[in-house]
Amino acid sequence: MPGIDDFTRPKEWIPDVAYGFAEAVRNFGRERYLPVRRKIDEDWRKHEIVEPLLKEALVDLGINKAIWPSEYGGMDIPREVIGTFTAVMSEELGRIDSGFAVAVLCSIWPMLPIALEPHRNQRLIEEFAPKFCGDELYVGCNAMTEPQGGSDIENLDALKGRTIRTTARLEGDEWVINGHKIWPTNSGKVADLFGVVCTTDPKAGEEGFAYIYVPADAEGVSVGEPYQKAGMAADMNTDIWFENVRVPKEYRAHGPGLDAKYFREIITFGNLGTAGFSVGVIKNTYEIVKEWVDERVVAGKPLKEHSISAVNLGEIATAAEICTHVLYMAARMVDRPDLYGEPWSPKVVAKTRAVSLFCSDMAVHCTNRAMELMGSYGYSREGDLEKHWRDSKMLTLWMGGRQLDLIEITRYFFECQTL
Ligand SMILES: Cc1cc2nc3c(=O)[nH]c(=O)nc-3n(C[C@H](O)[C@H](O)[C@H](O)COP(=O)(O)OP(=O)(O)OC[C@H]3O[C@@H](n4cnc5c(N)ncnc54)[C@H](O)[C@@H]3O)c2cc1C
Repeated sequence: MPGIDDFTRPKEWIPDVAYGFAEAVRNFGRERYLPVRRKIDEDWRKHEIVEPLLKEALVDLGINKAIWPSEYGGMDIPREVIGTFTAVMSEELGRIDSGFAVAVLCSIWPMLPIALEPHRNQRLIEEFAPKFCGDELYVGCNAMTEPQGGSDIENLDALKGRTIRTTARLEGDEWVINGHKIWPTNSGKVADLFGVVCTTDPKAGEEGFAYIYVPADAEGVSVGEPYQKAGMAADMNTDIWFENVRVPKEYRAHGPGLDAKYFREIITFGNLGTAGFSVGVIKNTYEIVKEWVDERVVAGKPLKEHSISAVNLGEIATAAEICTHVLYMAARMVDRPDLYGEPWSPKVVAKTRAVSLFCSDMAVHCTNRAMELMGSYGYSREGDLEKHWRDSKMLTLWMGGRQLDLIEITRYFFECQTL
């Protein structure tokens, strides 16, 4: 009987370690997460349910350890499979809950500039790897978005960081940081460490772009109350203020020019994750709707046996199959810079934005189609679909949204000069 594992994954590209994690996430989903999934939306303010689950995923399953060298207790997933590993994990977690998926994977997202080959920062690995690989919950947060706009900060090729208002000033051996971030995944009381997009000089272009790590308990850091959103309640989002916050000067990821360069790799991995979450949503939508159309009888026969249902069912299955293909091709592209270009190149950023855009649009499309088939049952909490329907919209909105995706894709492929 066909199921989600019959949509084609490129088996020869996926490392055993990713299959091992995938199986663990599936078990965790079945036994721990899915029994409480319907309650997650009520937990947006306190995370009484979410926090222990986050610990299970990041600490007990070991997802927090994935990128760190083994001498610090990390899994040291090899650079040449890290994209594929990300695809598997984001897909499996997204199938359970895309809001939870983003909370889990955003923990290590800001650490990529210092943890990945070929640009490891040994000094910062020594400082932070033991915290991510320990027995206590330790969570990262990538703080980019500011009140005056998120997209412009991520639109690095056009705006070169000129709109960043969070400042970093070197005083002796310390950075002094002032500014205000909004929206980051895991902000509020969740995160222990922020990767903060700052500027040392907004007029200096990419040379002024600085990526600096700030412990959440540093003096001068404060956070606001969680925002109540349409969905994605397992991801907590709040304001973060930095007021004369001092951190050692070594806490800057790399330095002038290089921070902006490797920030593009953060965008690439964000695109890959978004595509993976979308594939997970589509596959769980397929599972939910499959059960429904098998059992639901209209006009004397199961819903799936009516030719008009094939319009929606066929589209959902097509999206699950094709989005899986493009997700793993994008992952492979990230894993093989020798063949496809560096993950921080505008080419790979644009191509992964295309994959993210296509897969997230398909997630929205499929949840809509599934709801049309399930009718009022799809719209009710018990149908288990409406959460994906609400959550999936966000997959098309963050990281500059569809517009910035399309702008960066067009800029690259049409060689635009002013876009
Ligand atoms: C659940 C969730 C998780 C999030 N996680 C994070 C996180 O981990 N870290 C973080 O820093 N932020 C995070 N965000 C914030 C999110 O990434 C931003 O909201 C998003 O990038 C858009 O920024 P903005 O809201 O400031 O909109 P704006 O930047 O003001 O954009 C407004 C509109 O303009 C469009 N647009 C963008 N550029 C252009 C252009 N050049 N020309 C024309 N139109 C354009 C956009 O697509 C959008 O439709 C998260 C938000 C949510 C809801």
